[in-house]
Amino acid sequence: MPAATVGMHDRPVREARYDILFEPVQIGPVTARNRFYQVPHCNGMGYRDPTALAVMRGVKAEGGWAVVCTEQVELHYSSEITPFIELRLWDDNDIPALARMAEQIHRHGSLAGIELAYNGMNGPNLYSREVPMGPAHLPIATFTHEPVQARRMDRADIRNLRRWHLEAVRRAKRAGFDLIYVYAAHGLGFLHHFLSRRFNDRTDEYGGSVENRIRLFCEITEDAKNAVGDTCAVPIRISVDELRGTAGLHRAEVEEMIGLMTELPDLWDVTLAGWENDSRTSRFADEGHEEEFIRGIKRLTTRPVVGVGRYTSVDRMVSLVRGGVLDLIGAARPSIADPFLPKKIEEGRIDDIRECIGCNICVSGDFTSSPIRCTQNPTMAEEWRKGWHPERVRPRGSDRPVLVIGGGPAGLEAAQVLGKRGYEVTLAEAQKEFGGRILGESRLPGLAAWIRVRDYRIGQIRKLSNVQTYLDNRLSATDVLALGAPRIVIATGSKWRADGVGRFHAAPIAIDAGAEVLSPSDILADRLPRGRRVVVWDDDHYYMAGVIAELLAVRGYEASYVTPAAEASTWTRATLEQHFIQERLLRAGVRIRAHLALTSVTPDGAETACVFTDVREVLAADAVVLVTARLPDEELVLELQSRSAEWADAGIETVSVIGDALAPATIAHAVYAGRRYAEDLDSAPRPDDALPFRREITELVPNSDV
Ligand code: ADP
Ligand code: SF4
Repeated sequence: MPAATVGMHDRPVREARYDILFEPVQIGPVTARNRFYQVPHCNGMGYRDPTALAVMRGVKAEGGWAVVCTEQVELHYSSEITPFIELRLWDDNDIPALARMAEQIHRHGSLAGIELAYNGMNGPNLYSREVPMGPAHLPIATFTHEPVQARRMDRADIRNLRRWHLEAVRRAKRAGFDLIYVYAAHGLGFLHHFLSRRFNDRTDEYGGSVENRIRLFCEITEDAKNAVGDTCAVPIRISVDELRGTAGLHRAEVEEMIGLMTELPDLWDVTLAGWENDSRTSRFADEGHEEEFIRGIKRLTTRPVVGVGRYTSVDRMVSLVRGGVLDLIGAARPSIADPFLPKKIEEGRIDDIRECIGCNICVSGDFTSSPIRCTQNPTMAEEWRKGWHPERVRPRGSDRPVLVIGGGPAGLEAAQVLGKRGYEVTLAEAQKEFGGRILGESRLPGLAAWIRVRDYRIGQIRKLSNVQTYLDNRLSATDVLALGAPRIVIATGSKWRADGVGRFHAAPIAIDAGAEVLSPSDILADRLPRGRRVVVWDDDHYYMAGVIAELLAVRGYEASYVTPAAEASTWTRATLEQHFIQERLLRAGVRIRAHLALTSVTPDGAETACVFTDVREVLAADAVVLVTARLPDEELVLELQSRSAEWADAGIETVSVIGDALAPATIAHAVYAGRRYAEDLDSAPRPDDALPFRREITELVPNSDV
């Protein structure tokens, strides 16, 4: 049968070479309708926001992912990972929340997968206060260094844990799941800990040889298969390498393990450990960076294999299947950035795909226990809370045109969504190119993929005949009044400060007249220091100071990095990057000086103070780059406000400020701000002070139980 069929609008539905991606795949007793597989991923909603989470997963199913999985689901109260918010299946009371998710996924014809997890040594049990258990007496190995240890499990514990796992498997089936995982990956659960000699020093039949270390894994998998294997698939998730050489789990050992259990599971889901290696940002790994680790796994088993690699290139996906690397294209982040990625491929709309930029802002939701947010997809986690949809918008609520000023992330998102709603939109940008801050930042080392934030939006705007764009047009208040659009959106962005004001200093620091002081705005405009010895002062704590220090080191500068924090770019712990950033800076020869505050700058150097003792030290330097804070570019809004008496005559009804022009924050915040303006325009007024989102509240017990 010819693959390229003709759709309702007489255009090819998809290119024939992509057909292979839409073949069904048998996974044990169930069938995935295509090869697109949303692997388990955390989202910061979990048990606190079950309906918001269920609807978010349902949208992925609607977008064409044949398998849609939960995040890790705590299977027993004796292992939980507070303060992280995941799903729970501690007892029957948790079934309805999970059943709601399975229903949402089934509604769109997809299979629902659940990743049962017993964190063991990873769960400090701050909520349940149970004593954590693992293969050995070892400190809790979580991200937060809790002063808690796990105790070594004895035979009775192992019997109990097998029973708890089995009960959770049965509950998962009752909740409606089609794939019920046995999770042994990322170093995040007891099974991984039993597999890895790093954690397993046992001398009984569950420790020592590979056969012994996988014994519990096999038993748990067999239990699950025997209980539900007739109707549910039982996938295994395993890490093929911990990247610690033979001191940890490594490929040769894992191959041996797979060889011993080759046909036991219904599917092999293969990853790297730990999570930071599996979910590397684009700054530290290209698309498909895991391919070298997962290639060859397929020849060890007849079961289907799924793996990830931040894949957004469709040809690459095809070559993975054709080349026998994977049967199913796994995705967490690409499915977050674009829940409709499979549908768009299926419908031949490749250029509508919103490609993940690999920034890991999504991961920060988990680390901050807040609902997942995404730089590219501002509707993520807002599907139920706000009724937003990644592909559908309400038709316009009036025929009043909108003037958007500033073509950075906020202005571009506002313009493309307003355009899709059907408004007449004018988008004016001062520069010769759209993109705002993305333009400069995507030229910094490792951040090239960030340009996708601009490219996707420009691509969408170009398809909208009702959005007029003007480059090289810096609008003044007089211009805006002359244009006379009823709705004005100001998205003019921000500029980095060069006076030292930031978190540490609320007032400007002393800077000698002859000192060379730069801000990131200078670096982004290719104005580099004249002298060779440069101090970079990081009072921002996200990526900017680290990237600038890296750039300077690469260009041959002698760079010192000064921070009042304990480490470089400390907030990037939330994006799983801190370790990689510090390693890269140190390897590039950047001197990192922690716990120091910059106090003043002279032509010869920078004076610092120890943040604990105030002991002063002068660092010899020819120039200082201050990475502290930004100021909104609000000249236009202030001038317009001062001329508000002229608005009515000019036909102006509202002037709104969004994104960095209101309050500088991340690119994700700016995109969200643009979306919010465009979604909210002409919506029914909310009763005074009503919440702008929906939420669920814990059900109270009756008074008689208090
Ligand atoms: P955000 O992250 O909020 O979108 P950016 O700084 O990335 O902010 O983008 C702001 C954009 O607004 C920049 O591209 C800038 O050139 C543009 N801009 C600033 N002032 C004006 C103006 N008066 N007229 C048109 N464009 C402007
Ligand atoms: Fe990709 Fe960044 Fe979105 Fe995560 S937040 S899915 S890394 S674009």
